[in-house]
Amino acid sequence: MAAHRARFVLLPEGLVPDTVVEEDGGRVTAIRPARAGDPPAHDGTLVPGLVNAHLHLELSWLAGAVPATARGFDDWVGRMLATRGAGPSDPELPRRRAAEEAEGLVARGTVAVGDVSGEGWTAAPLAAAGLRGVVFHELLGFGREQLPQRLEAARADAVRVGGIVRRPAPHAVYSTPGELIVAACGRRGGAPSTIHCAEDAREEAFLHGEGPAVAFLDRLGLDWRWSGHPRTSPVGWLDRLGVLGPDLLVVHGVHLSDADRATLAARGAPLCLCPRSNLHIGGRLADVPALLAAGVPLALGTDSLASCEDLDVLGEIPLLALAFPEVDPTTWLRLATSGGADALGLSDLGRIAAGSTPGLVLLHGVEGGRFGVPPERTWLSYAAGATRGH
Ligand SMILES: [Zn+2]
Repeated sequence: MAAHRARFVLLPEGLVPDTVVEEDGGRVTAIRPARAGDPPAHDGTLVPGLVNAHLHLELSWLAGAVPATARGFDDWVGRMLATRGAGPSDPELPRRRAAEEAEGLVARGTVAVGDVSGEGWTAAPLAAAGLRGVVFHELLGFGREQLPQRLEAARADAVRVGGIVRRPAPHAVYSTPGELIVAACGRRGGAPSTIHCAEDAREEAFLHGEGPAVAFLDRLGLDWRWSGHPRTSPVGWLDRLGVLGPDLLVVHGVHLSDADRATLAARGAPLCLCPRSNLHIGGRLADVPALLAAGVPLALGTDSLASCEDLDVLGEIPLLALAFPEVDPTTWLRLATSGGADALGLSDLGRIAAGSTPGLVLLHGVEGGRFGVPPERTWLSYAAGATRGH
């Protein structure tokens, strides 16, 4: 049983000054105004454990290896794939870096993640670090010969590894045929699926049978045209496939129309923003005020260290706050906590509320939710249900 008093506490109703959170073994038992006899208040803002809803832990060994240029998405992806394809100098490096970064996530106040893995092994280091969340085992490829095996993989059950649920998920509309997207969607093991969507304008062009993604697949000599041209936007295509909803975490949403935003909101499909990665790769941010106005549920992610300098979800906030000063700063803290927890189906995390087990993180010196650089932070209570005490 412990009582934590802070200058500000992020509660579902907003940032509340001089408040005490009582907890027992990580479970919040009471929230109340400070009173005589309470210990002095911590100088800062108490928030629930952070949620990084989109990253690629297995790419951590590519940190800093794929610099930004002004040449756009295809150029960046091409260089990333070339560097990745050349392989690490030390074959142990990817797993060692992944383990280090998983520990680093916890050290920076993260309680849960949505991690995309092409190889599927990242559940072990994430669980070992004590993290909760989902590893999305990624599927892609238009090859018709491999489609039966891929469909079988897409229909695989979820597997639990410690606090992590690993389940299949499709990569993106320009890399994955509709049948495979459908087969890899739907809630499994309590976890939603995910898909990269509208990160670049090439995706919509591809769905119209045009543009660099078409040229890329043709250059590779791939047999993909059988999948047809739906002639709609990426969001429109996912909606036509019937997969949009609370069980699909859509990632990026940089290139969306008003109609796309309205569709996401109507279906209740959450969207994860990765602003630093989007700026690094494509030089453009999602229209966050328009997404908020449309009522799209939002989460925050860092994407991988190949396109972002760290996996600290709070590192996304200074850029967002600068780009969209009209947005209430409390909104950014919600995206990094309850937004991510909701998007990943983790209802016991993300909110400081009686009965919840969110983990309690003190953001040093932060008042009113504003910070120009990601703050220092300390765990006051580690979330119950995590596999490791802290
Ligand atoms: Zn990604």
